[in-house]
Amino acid sequence: MRIGVPKEIKNHEYRVGLTPDSVMEVVANGHQVFVETKAGAGIGADDQAYAAAGATICATAEEVFGAAEMIVKVKEPQAGERAMLRPDHILFTYLHLAPDPEQTKDLIASGATCIAYETVTDGRGGLPLLAPMSQVAGRLSITAGANALQKEHGGSGILVGGVPGVPAANVVVIGGGVVGAHAITMALGLGADVTVLDRNVDVLATLARSFGSALRTVYSTRASLEHYVLNADLVVGAVLVPGAAAPKLVSADMVRRMKAGSVIVDVAIDQGGCVETARPTTHSEPTYVVDGVVHYCVANMPGAVPRTSTFALNNVTLPYTLALAAQGAKKALLDNPNFLPGLNVYQGKVTCKAVADALGYAY
Ligand code: NAD
Repeated sequence: MRIGVPKEIKNHEYRVGLTPDSVMEVVANGHQVFVETKAGAGIGADDQAYAAAGATICATAEEVFGAAEMIVKVKEPQAGERAMLRPDHILFTYLHLAPDPEQTKDLIASGATCIAYETVTDGRGGLPLLAPMSQVAGRLSITAGANALQKEHGGSGILVGGVPGVPAANVVVIGGGVVGAHAITMALGLGADVTVLDRNVDVLATLARSFGSALRTVYSTRASLEHYVLNADLVVGAVLVPGAAAPKLVSADMVRRMKAGSVIVDVAIDQGGCVETARPTTHSEPTYVVDGVVHYCVANMPGAVPRTSTFALNNVTLPYTLALAAQGAKKALLDNPNFLPGLNVYQGKVTCKAVADALGYAY
């Protein structure tokens, strides 16, 4: 199959659909890859690296879309890219169609087979092509929070790990899923005093087994949440209720009563945030202060580390890319009941129930 990798054009998007190593793997399996010039610049992979991996370098996105049967990307196609899609194209990328009627309309009109990373499942209720970005965001939440705790960034001036003779920071993680577990890994690694709250006892039991007595696990109730949040130096909001907006677990009143200079990193901000005073911020201005509490609420945290994020994403997408290339979309999707939910738009029809329900299409 002929596979195209255009340069990402969404504002401040530096990731890329395939790494040179992935290209080499795809080429070794007998396929051709067309990569737009400078597509890998944001991850430090130049055109020579792609050429050495066996790709043909194209001068423009038009050339890539023209040559390819399948387009592998990271972000949803922008309007100019959507105009280049054809009925015989397979599009494999993050789509996030439910809140995006314009894009959905264009993908329907294109006739292309559009497969979204974020709705592929793993049979255990997980979303395997979304998980690496949660891992990245969870780990970043602690470095971002540690940075915000520094005095010059508005924080109370506490070093997360303390030093011998001076206590470490109290880090409170709300939600012990993928983001939470990776935040805990980093916080414990830095030597913090770490508490995790979750309302699922199985999640708490798994975390207790993984981290042992270094981690305090607490069943999340209004009372326990308030107790730990009010004593925290750094709170990480990492809850998810699938398909719903994040519950507002930390009220504005609680924020008012938190310690001066404490920090909230609301990772769940992409689902509206689990802190009442949280509003989305960007990498160029990531924090703001409410009632003396520093808020970090960047909605696309993995964008800060495009290199790690791209490699982590490729680790999970590559097997699906190879299956699509080898078998074509129809067979690859029908052969794997966990891959099939990834199909969002097919031959001019919405094929994902959540998207159809959200935007009023027949399903
Ligand atoms: P996950 O499903 O793996 O974990 C969520 C956890 O929250 C679960 O363990 C669940 O039991 C727990 N939970 C739900 N309601 C709760 C409540 N009322 N009290 C306590 N715990 C509760 O999800 P995840 O992959 O870890 O993602 C967490 C959030 O981070 C999501 O909103 C996701 O969209 C977001 N996210 C944001 C970014 C970013 O850049 N800002 C990046 C990746 C993920």
